[in-house]
Amino acid sequence: MPNKQSYILEGREGLLRQARVAAISSSVFDGVNSKKAKPEESQRKVGTVFLVGAGPGDPDLLTIKALRCIQQADVVVYDRLVSPEILSLIPSDKDILYVGKAKGAHSVPQNDTNALLVELAQRGKNVCRLKGGDAFVFGRGGEEMQTLHQEDIQVEVIPGITAASGCTSYAGIPLTHRGLSQGCTLVTAHAEKDLSVNWNALAALDHTLVFYMGLSKLSLISEELSQAGLSSTTPVAVIEKGCTADQRVFISDLATIKDAIKHEAVVSPSLIVVGKVVSLAKELDWFITQTTEHLDIEQLEKLSA
Ligand code: SAH
Repeated sequence: MPNKQSYILEGREGLLRQARVAAISSSVFDGVNSKKAKPEESQRKVGTVFLVGAGPGDPDLLTIKALRCIQQADVVVYDRLVSPEILSLIPSDKDILYVGKAKGAHSVPQNDTNALLVELAQRGKNVCRLKGGDAFVFGRGGEEMQTLHQEDIQVEVIPGITAASGCTSYAGIPLTHRGLSQGCTLVTAHAEKDLSVNWNALAALDHTLVFYMGLSKLSLISEELSQAGLSSTTPVAVIEKGCTADQRVFISDLATIKDAIKHEAVVSPSLIVVGKVVSLAKELDWFITQTTEHLDIEQLEKLSA
């Protein structure tokens, strides 16, 4: 991880590059589905699709294999959560397509993304399908792989650091800690209709609970966990834009977290971490970050004793 200063400078270059990406993405995406393959292209071998996890933001968290794939694939198809700094690592002669989803905004439907990947591979392109975090953790990587396999397209998976792991590490919160938590459960708070979570089972686990896509459901999560028996003093962290220079961490407890962030204009992506390990954040904080504590110190010390 470069220091904050150079990270921001690199970020600016990345943003410039993103402007170029946005311009390319709409025209190339339209073209891919409508253009007829040239005769020599249609005889070419079928390409491979690489499902690549880009990690939670910091480009230095990419694996060497992911970096190699980004640099060598013919086309990169990426999601909203892939950071501009990571996009800036894509060589300038590659095609780059944006298929990201943003809540409340129009995005490329999953079926169209699947069809695009099939089309590109059938045109003989080696495709880097780049996703935030890990493609197999709330990333629909499995669905894309199933579709590609149905078309006899070869797929390779390159794991990435998932948000639960990356963001908690950058916030100084160990997912497990002797005496505080002997397990960790990852939960999605996203639901097409009603959220169907077994709250009693989650509360009974006594695990660190990590909620993805939970920001808009923070009060529901707190209420349900309290009703299911979790103490209202259980520490909670909200980590916004984890593993980036803009990371903010808010720490409170189950009863007060909603109020604690009420005026903070917290935005997506944000991760919610519930459990006693959150009490270690103050002591283990190491990353240049803005941490706002709303827990009283005595309580923190008691929890981590
Ligand atoms: N495949 C991804 C998760 C995609 S779901 C992964 O493995 O990490 C999107 C959710 O992930 C966001 O709503 C947020 O809850 C979480 N997330 C991803 N990146 C994050 C980041 N840098 N900071 C905080 N939360 C993040």
